[in-house]
Amino acid sequence: AQLANQIAAGEVVERPSSVVKELVENSIDAGASELLIDIEQGGARRIRIRDNGSGIERDQLELALSRHATSKISSLDDLESIASLGFRGEALASISSVSRLTLTSKTAAQTEAWQAFCEGREMRVQIQPAAHPTGTTIDVQDLFFNTPARRKFMRTEKTEFGHIDEVVRRIALGCPRVRILLQHNGRRIRDYRPLRDESNATQRLSSIVGNAFAQHALSLQAEVAPWLLRGWVAPAAHCRHQGDIQYMYVNGRMMKDKLLNHAIRQAYGEQLGDDRQPTFVLYLELPPRDVDVNVHPAKHEVRFHQARQVHDFVLQSLRQALPGTTP
Ligand code: ADP
Ligand code: MG
Repeated sequence: AQLANQIAAGEVVERPSSVVKELVENSIDAGASELLIDIEQGGARRIRIRDNGSGIERDQLELALSRHATSKISSLDDLESIASLGFRGEALASISSVSRLTLTSKTAAQTEAWQAFCEGREMRVQIQPAAHPTGTTIDVQDLFFNTPARRKFMRTEKTEFGHIDEVVRRIALGCPRVRILLQHNGRRIRDYRPLRDESNATQRLSSIVGNAFAQHALSLQAEVAPWLLRGWVAPAAHCRHQGDIQYMYVNGRMMKDKLLNHAIRQAYGEQLGDDRQPTFVLYLELPPRDVDVNVHPAKHEVRFHQARQVHDFVLQSLRQALPGTTP
């Protein structure tokens, strides 16, 4: 139990929304075009994610779950190395060590679906046949049931669901072609319909970040080959006090990057004053060789090899889009 507490105390699985983030990213990685996310009691009771992605082969199920179970989570010393490796490559193993996890999956090549169940860090994985279409369902129940210290850190159902909602919003903005349904306690909360073409781009945008932004935001598209910046930015008059709509994606990954934020704020110049925040949904695309995404462990920061030029590209592109600023 002490070891389990230590695991939970680390940053491996911080709260229900971190579980949702990892599972949804796995579904996207598996090429899913539809996701159903079922949450019960803010995620404390259940987090279930069903996708129509590639699925996992029967003989890979146990591996997917127990990758680091014996070699890495066997002593306290090893915890250090898990923390330093971060979450990557260990999501399922980490999540299943602090919950009751059922993984059901079928690949297109298989005729039958298979299900694996494991509970806590014992990792006694049982595998049995099941009914499931091609794709994967991961059902995480009773998160932190074996780590009381961690469980105590969970906030109210409403707060935890709010974090989940925000995680899903970020991912939905980053993956416009994926349909995402989010339910809480059996009630449909969000239904993000997939982007078919540019004609419903604003519709998808407004379903995720709201009508007010979608109506007033100026769409922008700028290119200094091979760099591309596109998305939406709200004129200063429609920026709000809270910086709640600030989404910047670099090659599809959401970032909170100082350099980019600086460029965006600078583009507004004096227009914002002290009481309003830049408001934007932007996508920056660069060749992978021009960026290093591994600067920050949580991967929210990037390093651009031509930082100054990227900064100025973003600055100039926004100035051109925003009225009353001088390019
Ligand atoms: P990582 O994503 O870093 O490889 P995870 O622990 O998150 O590590 O997942 C382990 C493995 O399980 C993945 O590499 C993938 O092969 C498989 N997997 C997990 N979730 C899914 C899913 N929804 N669809 C298909 N495969 C999955
Ligand atoms: Mg993963």
